[in-house]
Amino acid sequence: MHRRITDKLVIATHNPGKLAEMKELLAPFGIEAVSAGELGLGEPDETGNDFRSNAAIKAIAAAQATKLPAFADDSGIVVDALDGAPGIFSARWAGPSKDFAAAMAQIERLLQERGATTPDKRKAHFVSALCVAWPDDHLEEVEARVDGTLVWPPRGTAGFGYDPMFLPDGHKRTFGEMTSIEKHGLPPLGLGLSHRARAFVKLAEICLEKR
Ligand code: IMP
Repeated sequence: MHRRITDKLVIATHNPGKLAEMKELLAPFGIEAVSAGELGLGEPDETGNDFRSNAAIKAIAAAQATKLPAFADDSGIVVDALDGAPGIFSARWAGPSKDFAAAMAQIERLLQERGATTPDKRKAHFVSALCVAWPDDHLEEVEARVDGTLVWPPRGTAGFGYDPMFLPDGHKRTFGEMTSIEKHGLPPLGLGLSHRARAFVKLAEICLEKR
């Protein structure tokens, strides 16, 4: 049986961007979102082997610490020609200074080394795994992806991370060239295009009720 989220949800993130996005997504459902940062919670080590387990590690740690239902996500970009790299290490490839221009250049260098110069050899997808954990160990987990092709040079200054290099299938503009409503917004306002938007729609279906 799926379990519904009612009134209050801890968002297990220290990233203000992610918190703002979640608050926006949760508002229509009358859910009050408080962040792990606001509650002074630490960040557990992401020791899982996949997106799903890392999301669960973060959600479970926050639910246990607060005795409230807690939400966490894990995401990244998976490049086919690089055997799935950077994958769960997407944030780490940018280093402590969060230099995503360097991380994109690193991907491009590796693609060139492997002769991945035509679009068919430059396939990639973003993954978003979402988990809500309750203090009694109940979990709700969903995962979604968006497929696309990596372009070079990067295009656009919107978004974050690997957005300027990612051209979603069926579109002419990269995520870096799209507005946040186009990329993340849910229908009818946006296209519900991003991996996170798609995963959120799945989570809303099983855990949330419009109020
Ligand atoms: P985490 O989910 O905070 O562990 O980190 C995910 C990392 O994947 C981010 O730091 C970005 O590098 C990358 N990433 C995840 N989602 C997106 C996206 O929508 N656009 C661009 N990069 C993303």
